[in-house]
Amino acid sequence: MKLILLGPPGAGKGTQATRLVEKFGIPQLSTGDMLRAAVKAGTPVGLRAKAVMDAGGLVSDEIVVGIIADRVLEPDARNGFILDGFPRTVAQARALDELLARTGMKLDAIIELKVDEKALLARIENRARETIAAGGTVRADDNPEAFKVRLEQYRAQTAPVSAYYASRGSLKTVDGMASIEAVTRAIDSILAG
Ligand code: ADP
Repeated sequence: MKLILLGPPGAGKGTQATRLVEKFGIPQLSTGDMLRAAVKAGTPVGLRAKAVMDAGGLVSDEIVVGIIADRVLEPDARNGFILDGFPRTVAQARALDELLARTGMKLDAIIELKVDEKALLARIENRARETIAAGGTVRADDNPEAFKVRLEQYRAQTAPVSAYYASRGSLKTVDGMASIEAVTRAIDSILAG
């Protein structure tokens, strides 16, 4: 099972990806998680990415495409993967097409979680509160200023990715405003169909 989850920040991609990981036994490939790990480890990629991520901007296509190109070839991704947070620009979607063609891989589904933009900031603030309550550290970009930039990036750079897949008839849309359970059921029925 190879799939892409699309949707704005706070849409619930991570929550649903975790469930799909369990259901299908395939890894969640989150470019956000991978970049945060690189920042934490202080790798050259992490050093280049940190400032732009903290401000809510997008890391260069070259960096994220390189990360994904390596990651999909790891042994644990042989039976499939869930792409979460990638592709985030049309250039990344094109690079992914090339990568898939080169490696003989094919996507099973591209699913977009549609959410009301007004709900997103509240979700991010809630995530920050829950993280603090659990004794964790809030993401450097989970604050209103960086969030505003992330949403702008989404509108300008990532919404066209949905249009890119929709124009080929390969985009499936799910109502991300529904309950977590209902979203899971909607995704399951797309994957079963
Ligand atoms: P969210 O889904 O909450 O927006 P992510 O964890 O997916 O956040 O990503 C956090 C940050 O990592 C992004 O704001 C961006 O700076 C960087 N990032 C993640 N994926 C990509 C990507 N595909 N292209 C460019 N930057 C990315």
